[in-house]
Amino acid sequence: MTTRFAIAARAALLASSLLILGTTAAHARDAAALRDQALTGDTVAWDLVEGLTTEVGPRPAASEAEARARDWSAAKLKALGFANVRIETYTMPAWVRGEEKASVIAPFVQPLVVAALGNSGATPEDGITAEIVFFPTFADLQKAPAGSLKGKIAFVTHAMKPTQDGSGYGAFGLARFQGPGVAAEKGALAILIKSIGTDNHRMPHTGTIGWPKGVTPIPAGALSVPDADNLERMVKRGKPVSIHLILTPKRLENQPGGNVIAEVPGSDPKAGIILLAAHLDSWDLGTGAIDDGAGVAIISAAAQRFLGTEKPRHTIRLLLAGAEEVGGNGSDAYHAAHKGEKHALVMESDFGADRIWRIDTKGYEKDQATRTALAAALAPLGVVPGSNPASGGADVEKFVEDGVPVIDLQQDGTRYFDLHHTADDTLDKIDLAQLRQNVASWVAVLGVVADAP
Ligand SMILES: [Zn+2]
Repeated sequence: MTTRFAIAARAALLASSLLILGTTAAHARDAAALRDQALTGDTVAWDLVEGLTTEVGPRPAASEAEARARDWSAAKLKALGFANVRIETYTMPAWVRGEEKASVIAPFVQPLVVAALGNSGATPEDGITAEIVFFPTFADLQKAPAGSLKGKIAFVTHAMKPTQDGSGYGAFGLARFQGPGVAAEKGALAILIKSIGTDNHRMPHTGTIGWPKGVTPIPAGALSVPDADNLERMVKRGKPVSIHLILTPKRLENQPGGNVIAEVPGSDPKAGIILLAAHLDSWDLGTGAIDDGAGVAIISAAAQRFLGTEKPRHTIRLLLAGAEEVGGNGSDAYHAAHKGEKHALVMESDFGADRIWRIDTKGYEKDQATRTALAAALAPLGVVPGSNPASGGADVEKFVEDGVPVIDLQQDGTRYFDLHHTADDTLDKIDLAQLRQNVASWVAVLGVVADAP
């Protein structure tokens, strides 16, 4: 594949001399040059995430703000030169945050910082007062006897620490994904968890809950990490701890939401689509810069480099999913509408804007040539081949289940969970050099796969 890079480089030279001679033909593609230009000088990604966070801001799925984000993105992608830019709508339930307040009323009266978790149930307007039952881990909550939480507020903590691959989220995140459902099944009035985060700021981390079928949602909130630690110390003093909790979110049925689609058209309609996905919706607390304005920016900026060059063999299609955070409604709607089209490869960017450090693939087990070419194209960016099969993410999940090949460009997640789903998810947390390294990595991969058989 280095030969292909060299051939492409010669072709680019030839094409640029033709351009000097006055031809308007799209110039041949030099994948290595595209990658290196992205690394040192990309401005498209920053402009997109800066614009989205400044001109739209928080954009919860199926809200009026998400509708503005769709229109904003479609206009930007058209202006960048993408083809077939369109919005594909669907309806879904929207979850809207209400009032949220928590305070310890005995034995040590003081307020706590809390945020309702996505899809939380509501307390009455004047709240509830109950004693807490403490669980140091999610596994301890699971072991609580049936009915033992009647009339109580479950309080679950964990010991999540930062990791480069973000693996703490899957393990410790169970307290949020499943904890509320388990607490409800055991009769709890409500649940409070220690935020699924790795910071020590008084900033709660929201995030969605997966309620088991048939379980009525109970009020469920995340305390900031220091507030949860404070509450844990109170519990350890040995006296019963009582809390007053107000959470009044609402669920609105049948609200409009939508995906934004854009394309770099390919030259061979039979080759299939390379789908690059990110999500446009965000939590309401921050401005959705790292989650997932960055992903939207990275995939758009990378694909944009393939406009105005010779057509790639595959169509490169962007999917900016309108709903990922409260449920995969956006990707489900896309899959339902487009599963009949041939998808040759799916990729997703949804882990912030810090540097890519590893590539994982699935579906290329018998294609050593492509894996070697990918490793070579990424090596100058410090990206190493991984040994785990790629798994994609929520926005491409159903295609991965269908057996479509997938490539993961793994980002450094060391500081991701300091910010994730908090009010602190804002533009200033994005480092321009690392954002550019992301774009360059995506360009490097596309340079290899866009023309592949
Ligand atoms: Zn996300």
